[in-house]
Amino acid sequence: MAENKTNETPKKTVKKTITKVESAKNTSSETPKYAPKAASSETAGNAKTKRIIAVVCWVIAIAFEVLALLVFIGKIDLGFISQLAQLIIFLVIDFIFVVIGAQFWKKANHIDPVSEENKLKFWLWNNMGVVVCCFAFIPFLIYVLFIDKEADPKMKKVASIVAAVALVLGIGISYDWNPVSAEGKAQAEATLAGQSVYWTQFGTVYHLDQDCQHLNRSSELFEGDVATAIGNNKTRLCKTCAKNFSIEIDDNGAITSLASSFAVPEEPADEPAA
Ligand SMILES: [Zn+2]
Repeated sequence: MAENKTNETPKKTVKKTITKVESAKNTSSETPKYAPKAASSETAGNAKTKRIIAVVCWVIAIAFEVLALLVFIGKIDLGFISQLAQLIIFLVIDFIFVVIGAQFWKKANHIDPVSEENKLKFWLWNNMGVVVCCFAFIPFLIYVLFIDKEADPKMKKVASIVAAVALVLGIGISYDWNPVSAEGKAQAEATLAGQSVYWTQFGTVYHLDQDCQHLNRSSELFEGDVATAIGNNKTRLCKTCAKNFSIEIDDNGAITSLASSFAVPEEPADEPAA
């Protein structure tokens, strides 16, 4: 039997407040930020709205790349600030919209994931933000570094450094480090049907036991079904909880055990010492 007693740790369990996060069909207007339950038509609509917002953000980002380029070649000059400052401002706005778009895009993919049957398609779809980030800075960089031979060297240097940093940062932020597949989400929902799971605001995993040792230092927990947890970017099951509840997971934390073989007990057998 798995051991999850925590009395050997000096840290005391913090008193927790648990916020229940309902799936969409029960959600009142005061909690619109939470993702709705998967497989409902509302879910698809919610994900679609987020994808549209992402695409609009990305179009704006590319437009600011073009503006930055026009400033660089001297076609645009706002006048009241230096050309270099204009250039940096446009590149920063470009970066901000790339990143905001990617957050909406990733969120949509966690609410309404795609199949991982075709690995390349799965990767490209999930990391569309990375692709867009390349389009938002690489053409500018190529122009500044290799095409324009007559530009002011200082401006050339600063512009290329700003764009290169934005490119690298943007790729890191836009990349989906915890992708969800349609198959993985369906398996998690089937395995944990009707069960509450718990998560913290900034964590990346969800837990089956609200007294899991990894939640000891968290005073604020959220509770909901597994689809809601995944929609809130808690894409993997906690390894300790998986072990304690005898659920098989793969290296990525995706549930692999069969739905019929598992049921969460009403009360976990071994409670942590108070
Ligand atoms: Zn846990």
